[in-house]
Formats: sequence, C-alpha cells, structure tokens
Amino acid sequence: MGLLDGRNALVFGVANDHSIAWGIAKALHAEGAEVGFSSVESLIERRVRPLATSIGSTFVEPCDVQSDEDIDRVFARWGESHDRLDILVHALAFAKREDLSGSFVETSRDGFGLAMDVSAYSLVALSRSARPFLRPGSSIMTLTYYGAEKVVANYNVMGVAKAALEASVRYLAADLGREGVRVNAISAGPIRTLAASGIAGFKQLYGGFDEIAPLRTNITIEDVGRSAVYLASDLSGAVTGEILYVDGGFNVMGVPTSG
Ligand code: NAD
Repeated sequence: MGLLDGRNALVFGVANDHSIAWGIAKALHAEGAEVGFSSVESLIERRVRPLATSIGSTFVEPCDVQSDEDIDRVFARWGESHDRLDILVHALAFAKREDLSGSFVETSRDGFGLAMDVSAYSLVALSRSARPFLRPGSSIMTLTYYGAEKVVANYNVMGVAKAALEASVRYLAADLGREGVRVNAISAGPIRTLAASGIAGFKQLYGGFDEIAPLRTNITIEDVGRSAVYLASDLSGAVTGEILYVDGGFNVMGVPTSG
C-alpha cells in the first residue's frame, strides 16, 4: 500500500535527472501516484520523455509558462484522459544570468519582470488553470529558497521573485482552502542542478552548507521528494499556506556553530 495509491500528479519543471522536480516525481511514483510531466519543449524528447517512460508515464506535454495558450493546452490535454488532478508540482524558475551576479541594484526592469513572470506568477497561472480539476484533498506545491527572506550573495532578483512566490502561496491557500485544496512551498537547501549553476558563486554556497546546517549534510533531490510525499498526502491534510524547510535546519542558525 502506497501513501498515494490511486492519486495522480502533474509535475512541471523536469530538465534532467538532477532536477528537484524529478526527485519529487520519483518519490510520488514510489508511493503509488500516476505522474504526468510538463517541461519546456526543447527538453521533452531528449530529456523528459525517457525519464517519464522509466516510471511508466505517458503524459508528457511541452509548456512555456510565460504563455497562457501553452498552459491552457496542457490542461486541455490533461482533461482528455483525467477528470481530476490530485497533486500539482511547480518546480521551475528563471532569471537572466546577468541578474544572478553582482549588485541587485543593477537589475533591469526587463530582467525583474522576466524573473517574476516565470518564477512567481506562473504558480498563480498554473493553479488557476488546474482549478477545474482540483478536488477536496488536492495539493499544490512549489519550490522556494532561503534567499526569499534573507540576503544571499548573487541570488538577487531571484530572492525577490521567491518572496513573491511565497506570498502567492499564502494568498492561493486562502483562496483555494474553501475548496479543500492545499497550497504549500518547500524551501530546499542548495542542490547542484542546472538552474543552480546559473547563480554566480553557487559552489561556495553549496560547499560551506554542510558545515553550518545543524544536520551537517547537503540536501538531495530524494530528501525533497520525501517531503513532497508528505505535502501531497493526507499526512499533511491540515497544512496549507506553509513554507516547509528541507534544509537540514540551516534556516534556524543565527551565528554558525563551528565543529
Ligand atoms: P532545474 O534546472 O532542474 O529546473 C528548473 C526548471 O525550470 C527547468 O526544467 C526549466 O526548463 C524550467 N523553466 C525555466 N523557464 C521556464 C519556462 N518559461 N517555462 C517552463 N519551464 C521553465 O533546477 P532545480 O534546481 O531543480 O529548480 C527547480 C525549482 O527549485 C526552482 O524553482 C528553483 O528555484 C528551486 N530551488 C532550487 C534550489 C537549488 O539549490 N537547486 C534550492 C531551492 C529551490
């Protein structure tokens, strides 16, 4: 018996087998969920479909979350074979490389808008399009990072976008709660992924992490996947609007303890 037997999930954001979205998809599948995928078109055939096939998934649809037409089309396709959606996973973000280094004050209007649109507004757009399929007990989750609340060198515009994303989680939770739908975020510690490689100085961020985090270890996509199962399942049935830290306790530290 899996915790998610009989449930279905739609996961946005797999780029490759290092993606947090893939860690989540594997964990949901291991607990019995049927998993569908959506990613940007250029990744579908070479990267996403082989991974989907490896866990028996056939629903794989392209989507650029900046396009309302793309989003509508994904959910229309979902509706051809499903009458409900139990789990919606939003694990994607984007900012221009030049906005992930140097001074935040140099962020352009264009770069600011792009980061906000892809990384924060897309959660609102996906939740709205998913709404006709959501039922009491359905769970929406997204991925955020500590840089939303404290300054992290070079994270810059993405920190501001994550702050908007976290606020969106709370407003969506308030809107959708009366329909029995829960909305939460996982705040993950640093993990070596394609997106992370775009942040200047990520190596230092990642390298020093296990010396500061109380659990003295780095975070894996499997760690995030297990917590995603909790948020997707009835185990978190009374939890909504929350930011769940999957960071080995890093966020509780004020002055780091050595040794
Ligand atoms: P990743 O590169 O594997 O995934 C990012 C995904 O975003 C990719 O699949 C990419 O195609 C997608 N994406 C970008 N622009 C898009 C668009 N316009 N339309 C649709 N998809 C788009 O990296 P990841 O680290 O697994 O990132 C997943 C999420 O986790 C992101 O929100 C990221 O900010 C967050 N996160 C990452 C870390 C980390 O250290 N890696 C820590 C905390 C939170």
